[in-house]
Amino acid sequence: TVRVRGLAKAFGANQVLRSVDLEVAKGEVVVIMGPSGSGKTTFIRSLNLLEMPDRGSIEICGIALAEPASLPGGELRRKTLQIRQKTAMVFQSFNLFPHMTALQNVIEGLISVKGIAKSIARERGLALLGKVGLSEKADAYPGKLSGGQKQRVAIARALAMDPDVILFDEPTSALDPELRDDVLGVMRELAKEGMTMLVVTHETRFARDVADRIIFMEGGHVIEDCTPGHFFSANASERCKQFLGRLH
Ligand code: ATP
Repeated sequence: TVRVRGLAKAFGANQVLRSVDLEVAKGEVVVIMGPSGSGKTTFIRSLNLLEMPDRGSIEICGIALAEPASLPGGELRRKTLQIRQKTAMVFQSFNLFPHMTALQNVIEGLISVKGIAKSIARERGLALLGKVGLSEKADAYPGKLSGGQKQRVAIARALAMDPDVILFDEPTSALDPELRDDVLGVMRELAKEGMTMLVVTHETRFARDVADRIIFMEGGHVIEDCTPGHFFSANASERCKQFLGRLH
């Protein structure tokens, strides 16, 4: 479903991604871990072109994009749109529209991007809010929701677009510990239903229980790509063990 080859990205003199390769099969849950500044966020944002890679190729559900930085503008815009129709992104900071209710946030893309009639979008949005346990908050504005509730609205909004892949960028790191479990619970459900997910997170319990694979990044490279069983075992590389030791 997702195939990345030789992805590289620098911000000025800071070479953040050096040459990242990754394949993710349909239905797989891949957790990306690594120290601060290792390029995890830049990598996941590059997958749907929120960051423009300098080099490399990306293929998501049959939409292939080679060397995007050197494509003519029109072609690049067309492919970017196609890739964004296949992927949804959930951000650390939720990114909800503050002047819209929870339901309006969820269905905005359905109406404005997909052109779906308002009554049908509403029905779909209410079902999705039910799925994330927020039926009773449909008419609440984000300012009246907890961080965990906001993030669940953001997940419902991502699901509304019916994506093939959901990209999560540290979805729980802005939340108080007691609010994280509701969000992680929704993510566990999605994984169980077979959603393809790439998740940047420091949540080791989620990684251990839910991930099919763990990617460990450092210095702009993938330095480990293994099962959680291996990653959290005594046989993991010294570098991974050192990293995990510092997390706890
Ligand atoms: P963290 O766990 O702290 O979120 P990360 O592994 O996700 O870290 P990135 O956020 O991808 O790392 O950042 C990698 C490096 O790229 C950092 O040195 C950061 O300062 C730099 N960087 C990220 N975005 C930009 C930007 N828009 N402009 C300039 N530098 C950036």
